[in-house]
Amino acid sequence: MQLSSTFVPLWSAPEQTGDGLWLVFSGRDLLVLNGPEPALPTGAAAPVRIDRARCIGTLDGRPCWAAHGVEVDVGAEAGAAGKHEWLGLRALFERLPEAHVALAGRALQVLDFERLHRFCGVCGGRMEASDMGRGRSCTACGEVVYPRIAPAMMVLVTRKGARGPELLLARGPRFQTGMYSALAGFVEPGESLEDCVRRETREEVGVELGPLRYFGSQNWPFPHSLMVAFTAEWAGGEIACQEDEIEDARWFAIDALPLMPTPLSIARRLIDATVQELSSARG
Ligand SMILES: [Zn+2]
Repeated sequence: MQLSSTFVPLWSAPEQTGDGLWLVFSGRDLLVLNGPEPALPTGAAAPVRIDRARCIGTLDGRPCWAAHGVEVDVGAEAGAAGKHEWLGLRALFERLPEAHVALAGRALQVLDFERLHRFCGVCGGRMEASDMGRGRSCTACGEVVYPRIAPAMMVLVTRKGARGPELLLARGPRFQTGMYSALAGFVEPGESLEDCVRRETREEVGVELGPLRYFGSQNWPFPHSLMVAFTAEWAGGEIACQEDEIEDARWFAIDALPLMPTPLSIARRLIDATVQELSSARG
């Protein structure tokens, strides 16, 4: 149901309000109403004081509002709507429909963009919304800035092992205990995605790759990444983990995989789709 939702991005100046879906943040936590399932507030009746809402687009024709919120009175909640809760975006991945998670990501990035561009990086002048709200321009020198999106790559490396297909999975020092995932890293200035995939793979695990195959992408609002995922076959090199970055990396047989990331992450989709493909190829 949610997969067929249509989001149309819009930009508007702050100080607007209306019915629709509300993405209200306190810091980086999102307001949700608890019911049988957590839900986004659908009107300004949320039990918080709203600061400068702006329309960020429509979802299936409903306006979507992003705003900062200040808790007013926990006791004075909107009756039937039930209790509310502030949830970190990572928790939301598990508990909100996919279309609403994407919406929350956009809302947070729009609010962050405004918060971090109040003054001009060139002359220190005051910035204001410009280009229909898409960008911000300096009231003194005219410098214009737009929201930044940082491309990052992910690659799942495969090879034909002695007993069947294998995946190269690695874990970073901050991963949940026992969890492994595909390799990932940020694109450097001047670098293509393809260059980045080959460089990061070489740096992190000392392995060379054959041709890359595009898998898909996912916007990741921590704080403003776009994760672009590939698969590639191993072309040479023994695993040698990069100190500090990679705690462990190994070849895993596709029928003996370790703990892996949440099914909603592109990492997990990449792994699941590849395992399925390799399994059916094996027959
Ligand atoms: Zn300026």
